[in-house]
Amino acid sequence: MESSQRKLLIAGGGSSGLGTALAAARRGWKVVIFEAQDIGGGTSTTSTKLIHGGIRYLESAIKTLRLSDWHLVREALRERKWMIESHPHLCAKLPIILPVANKADKIYYGIGLTLYDYLSYPYRLAPKEWIDMKAFYEYFPIAYRKFIGGWLYWDGQFEDRLYAVHLALYLRQRFGVDIRTYHRVMDIEVVKDEVRVCVETAGGERYVESGDFLINATGPWGDFLRKRLRPHTAPRLRISRGSHLVLKGLPPLKAGFLIPRTVDNRVLFILPWKEGTWLLGTTDEEAEAPEWNAPVPAKEESYLRAYLARYFEQSGEVVARFAGFRPLVFSREQTTSRIARNHVIEVWEAERTIHLMGGKWTTFRSMGEDTVRTLYTRLLRRPVVEGEPVTQIVPDLSDLEALKHIFPQPIVEGEPFTEGEVRFWRRLGWAHTPADIVEGRWQLHLINENRSLRLKSALQARWSELT
Ligand SMILES: Cc1cc2nc3c(=O)[nH]c(=O)nc-3n(C[C@H](O)[C@H](O)[C@H](O)COP(=O)(O)OP(=O)(O)OC[C@H]3O[C@@H](n4cnc5c(N)ncnc54)[C@H](O)[C@@H]3O)c2cc1C
Repeated sequence: MESSQRKLLIAGGGSSGLGTALAAARRGWKVVIFEAQDIGGGTSTTSTKLIHGGIRYLESAIKTLRLSDWHLVREALRERKWMIESHPHLCAKLPIILPVANKADKIYYGIGLTLYDYLSYPYRLAPKEWIDMKAFYEYFPIAYRKFIGGWLYWDGQFEDRLYAVHLALYLRQRFGVDIRTYHRVMDIEVVKDEVRVCVETAGGERYVESGDFLINATGPWGDFLRKRLRPHTAPRLRISRGSHLVLKGLPPLKAGFLIPRTVDNRVLFILPWKEGTWLLGTTDEEAEAPEWNAPVPAKEESYLRAYLARYFEQSGEVVARFAGFRPLVFSREQTTSRIARNHVIEVWEAERTIHLMGGKWTTFRSMGEDTVRTLYTRLLRRPVVEGEPVTQIVPDLSDLEALKHIFPQPIVEGEPFTEGEVRFWRRLGWAHTPADIVEGRWQLHLINENRSLRLKSALQARWSELT
């Protein structure tokens, strides 16, 4: 049987599931994605929105000389370039400044960032540069006067959830990938050469879908499906919650600000975000189990605000907060902040299933490639087919533009969001609730919670008419 006739089932429509779909679809596979919520509605909407190699992993690589850390940074730096080029409207280069208080730090961080530049060759975005004190305070006029300058280096920034939605649309338009939102995989069985999943819809109906293989790409929820297949298997994932705050009322940032080490050995970012706000994150707290739309605990909010107050004279007003769960591949000896963020692929041959765990947004494409290559070599036992190259994932949005033109009325007076957009996103069949539009397409809950609530209730009132 040729690969074009084979069917791949994927549980999870976050970055891992979409990356795997891309890798399989470009090789001619028929792909069905089941997503329990909306596209990107899990961890993939709660990232710090950085497209990065990972300064923190670089430091770990220098200290431990562990090959996997070097590999992780290098791979992510290559993928960083691809992502920025794959969707230039939603991804952009971002300067980030590491503040320096003394000469020793200037040398230490200078060496680290030289390595970061070196590792990114030939995918470098721009070289790092030293910013003297005057320039530093031009960038950050409300920072406390305790720095001699800073190192400016480059990474990328993107709109994670919207990128996921655009990628999903591209996969549908270009390869006919079938993406079913609010379809949750509840059970799996293998019958001869088929894997069968039992899927539950939002309305509570259940149906069975069959395919050749299954990919479990359910992120921090991954152990649920592992247990459905092998009830006595040990869990592989540990969960850590990362919280962010969005602040307004501060001078707009022209560059990100990196706090390279907190007292509890974390990295914090303060990034320019939409509508002149500041995005601050993240914490790293062990958690029991992942939740959809998790609240930010007051303790973590205070922690983040306290850190801001160490560096800046003003603290602004918190207008939005969001938290997500890092799925970290389990290891008993380590605390969560030390576990490598490399992805792990676990092959269950008899169950015709591959579990894809861990990783990061930036490397979603290579994670998908690894998974599909493993599928060829370990499950199909065939040479890997190369497939069609994909350099851009920008979908055709001409229908969106047309509908915006036909229905330009704002949903709420004074807001830029129109009826035409609601109709477009609903007609695709993926958005089932006002939150899917307001949060999943406009990302308003990540910009201003009150405005997001207002828009959601206005949409709720007119939901049946805006189709
Ligand atoms: C706080 C935080 C900050 C981060 N910042 C960055 C960053 O700046 N840059 C970066 O590159 N990476 C970052 N990451 C990492 C990155 O966000 C994640 O690695 C990535 O989003 C994980 O994607 P995923 O598809 O594996 O998981 P998810 O996005 O969680 O997707 C899994 C999906 O599976 C669905 N699902 C669950 N159970 C089922 C089921 N039974 N059936 C069907 N569907 C199911 C869920 O609804 C979910 O949508 C960050 C992570 C966190 C937590």
